[in-house]
Amino acid sequence: MKHVCVYCGSSDAVAQKYVDEAIKLGEALAKRGATLVYGGGNVGLMGKVALAAQARGAKVIGVIPQRLVEREHVHRGCDELIITQTMRERKAIMDEKSDAFIALAGGFGTLDETMEAITIRQLGFHQKPIVFLNTDGFYDLLLAFFEKLYAEGFAGRRFAPLYQVANTVEEALDLALNEA
Ligand code: AMP
Repeated sequence: MKHVCVYCGSSDAVAQKYVDEAIKLGEALAKRGATLVYGGGNVGLMGKVALAAQARGAKVIGVIPQRLVEREHVHRGCDELIITQTMRERKAIMDEKSDAFIALAGGFGTLDETMEAITIRQLGFHQKPIVFLNTDGFYDLLLAFFEKLYAEGFAGRRFAPLYQVANTVEEALDLALNEA
């Protein structure tokens, strides 16, 4: 069974379209028989994707540092809940347990996690799919900035295939699960 790690925002102050997409992703992931690996909280899109996935029968693995148990309203109903000491440990476990990564819309934390997945893939530590779910063009500016990295020589354009961009939930899962 494939384990899909979803990185996404912890903010609840976001437009409904992002919430809807998170729910859709959770449901679709469950429908495809995948297990969700995520940050273990009940806040923001994190909570939405996890509850939607579980409601449709997916197994959900939450990984959260002890310090954030309160702040991110840990989801005690996770099928597997791993409490770590540090943020780094959290990321490492999320990475280890996953076969693919999907970045839903999010803030600095989401960017940090997704960038790390890309950079360690760039260095050859893994070959797992990394997919930006570009809800309503959310990642357009970041993707344009990546073009600047290539144009100015800070990253080789050969690295562009390290990540993929999906415009819909189904497309994101096709790419993540290698079913495209
Ligand atoms: P955000 O996208 O900022 O709303 O954060 C999404 C999730 O990423 C939250 O669960 C944060 O706790 C988490 N996060 C933020 N920074 C880091 C980091 N350096 N390493 C691991 N997780 C992080």
